[in-house]
Amino acid sequence: MTPGSIADLQKALLAKKTSVLSIVKHYLEQIASTSDLNIYVRVFEKEAIEKASALDDKIQNGEPVGKLAGLVLSVKDVICIEGQEVSAASKMLEGFQSLFTATALQRLLDEDAIVIGMVNCDEFAMGSANENSVFGPVKNPLDPERIPGGSSGGSAAAVAADTCLISLGSDTGGSVRQPASFCGVSGFKPSYGRISRYGLIAYASSFDQIGVIGNSPDDIYKVLQIMEGEDEMDATSTAFMNYTPSKEKIIGWIPEIMNHPGLDPDIKNESDLVMEKLKDEGYELKSFDFPLLDYIIPTYYIMTAGESSSNLSRYDGVRYGHQTKENVNLENFYRKSRAEGFGSEVKRRIMMGTFVLSAGFYDQYFGKAQKVRRMIKEAMENIFMECDYIICPVSPVRPWKIGEKIEDPVSVYLSDIYTVIANLAGVPAISIPLKSMSSPYASIQLLGPKGSDHYLLTQASELLKKF
Ligand code: GLN
Repeated sequence: MTPGSIADLQKALLAKKTSVLSIVKHYLEQIASTSDLNIYVRVFEKEAIEKASALDDKIQNGEPVGKLAGLVLSVKDVICIEGQEVSAASKMLEGFQSLFTATALQRLLDEDAIVIGMVNCDEFAMGSANENSVFGPVKNPLDPERIPGGSSGGSAAAVAADTCLISLGSDTGGSVRQPASFCGVSGFKPSYGRISRYGLIAYASSFDQIGVIGNSPDDIYKVLQIMEGEDEMDATSTAFMNYTPSKEKIIGWIPEIMNHPGLDPDIKNESDLVMEKLKDEGYELKSFDFPLLDYIIPTYYIMTAGESSSNLSRYDGVRYGHQTKENVNLENFYRKSRAEGFGSEVKRRIMMGTFVLSAGFYDQYFGKAQKVRRMIKEAMENIFMECDYIICPVSPVRPWKIGEKIEDPVSVYLSDIYTVIANLAGVPAISIPLKSMSSPYASIQLLGPKGSDHYLLTQASELLKKF
């Protein structure tokens, strides 16, 4: 039996009840026996075994080891590891090798964490179902006919299928929290700027954050403390002050969210039960109006499409990855390389993004969306003046069947309504599973003010114990 938390694992290692090598071997066996779920795109068997043996030797000889010795993790295929291929699940980056390791990951490696492999995701992290991948869809370990969520579907499935203890994903609009909720695990998106984005392939830079998926908020907290903080390679990264909650025991909720016509009644019921229980335990549940809710999805998709069309202009067939084999002139070389390299969802976003940024339409779309984003951010700040965190569902719907919504991208966009709020406002948010409820997909989301990441994780840990 491999321990299911970092704390138990390290206790077992210290007491010599297990070895790093046997932990790595366990996960390699799990990866092999769940290969039909299509989770891993690269497995680092040899490297992981070598590092595990070296760590075991050190432990045996009583030499000091890093704070994360024994932790085995997987990494979404958008996070760079020096000398390894990274492709953002796109044909565009086929064969491309990273020249450096992402700062956040390097900090974990420096503490002796072991990367066991890279996992599947939506192409350039665009999607909510992990169906937009050049490697094909990932299957949900809880029900292989269903999607695992996205875009970090491989990361959530990897933890749920017990192929690693932690997985690093990225969250631009919910890509860590939504798949975590669809696979029955915990997923955390930090405050914008808390974790360096250096070495994370960009989707929409003012939204992107590396996020963590794990079995519990406690494990995520341990990893976050090592990854977070300023990095000279990312000017948006910053060290946050310690957050002190001032309004202990006041939790916010938003009637527009809870009474939204698109919210599945079972999911509403689960959130109501959580709120009831908290009330019984002496918390005050305070409601806050949020009339901007209907603007959330348009604002998010206008801005992220715009930012992504700009970010993805670097893939021209010359500097990275795929090049057309056709003998064409330079202009058509760019066109052909991009047309062959990108998948249809990425193309849709590039077209939409180029449109909203174009000279004649900028003020009407991108410029306006920026203003609405500011209003959303301020509305959230006002709410957080009167409560410590907000509670709400993660997704308005349950994981759907693979293939079911392929022809209906707008309905998929709409399902992001409760997760993109945190990215628009730059605040931390976590999704945790509600194990005692009848649906395996039951979950709840907590959103806190900017910088409250540590506090939010401890609150999530407390809440998890009650369900
Ligand atoms: N589903 C959202 C999108 O497609 C979020 C993706 C993400 O967080 N990377 O944009």
